Amino acid sequence: RAKEEGRGRHRFFEQEMDARAQARRALELDLRRAFALRQFEVHYQPQMKLADRRVVGFEALARWRHPERGMISPAAFIPIAEEIGLISQIGEWVLQTACREAAGWPDDISIAVNLSPVQFSSPGLVTMVIAALRQSGLAPERLELEITESVLLQETAATLTILHQLRALGVRIAMDDFGTGYSSLGYLRSFPFDKVKIDQSFVREMPSDGDSNAIVRAIIGLGVSLGISTTAEGVETQEQLDRLRAEGCTDIQGYLLSRPIPASGVGDLLLQLHS
Ligand code: C2E
Ligand code: MG
Ligand code: MG
Ligand code: MG
Repeated sequence: RAKEEGRGRHRFFEQEMDARAQARRALELDLRRAFALRQFEVHYQPQMKLADRRVVGFEALARWRHPERGMISPAAFIPIAEEIGLISQIGEWVLQTACREAAGWPDDISIAVNLSPVQFSSPGLVTMVIAALRQSGLAPERLELEITESVLLQETAATLTILHQLRALGVRIAMDDFGTGYSSLGYLRSFPFDKVKIDQSFVREMPSDGDSNAIVRAIIGLGVSLGISTTAEGVETQEQLDRLRAEGCTDIQGYLLSRPIPASGVGDLLLQLHS
């Protein structure tokens, strides 16, 4: 009896696994076709300088509009794209699109684009950035590239060379999601980042969680000491904003200002946030 039950359970798990593997394969197939079907979009989320409350830039965030499943989060499809070798193509398209759209915005507004660690291991990253700048006419100083600590995980000479080449173009480099992952302060020494983005997992717990407050304070202090700006991600409340400002954080990004929006809404949003 127990044996039978066990077998039944086993079969159930197998079916479950099959279903999951199938769903995953279907998603991979859809992802491979998404390009040709023009299902990708870029949405933009504002970043505000706290000193004068001006919008200083937007972060470009990839979106996949799936015909049946609706919007699929990049947290879900970027890892798959990385695995099946599609991320460089998607990344290039996001970069080109973001540069082209941002070129039409006021020239004191910059654009931040996320780079996958995988893009650092495929050749032509620097060439791709140069091409996107040239095609769009965007000034390199208006482009910021966001990388995560995982890029520096295999801190090879090649990775650092690419970062320095990008920097030499006039492009800024930001460390994204700081404080998570393999956090090592040494990463901040191995390359002169222009900015550190405080991960939203810490900001979310502010100000009620003392440990998060302490970590955020430490990261801001680090930014001050290194002479670089700090952007707090995921700011949702006025209370968080006030706290961050009091701690000396330089910039904020989050739903409090706006969710990520299509390019068509950027003009109105700027008017609204600056009024
Ligand atoms: P990220 O670069 O850290 O981007 C910030 C994420 O936080 C975005 O999620 C944004 O929508 C979300 N967010 C912003 N403000 C708030 C807030 O106040 N509350 C909450 N709960 N969330 C907030 P999104 O757009 O889902 O992107 C998730 C991640 O996917 C990004 O994290 C980034 O790592 C990756 N990603 C997005 N677009 C690209 C891309 O074009 N290329 C690559 N390689 N990765 C991308
Ligand atoms: Mg980012
Ligand atoms: Mg982030
Ligand atoms: Mg993140």
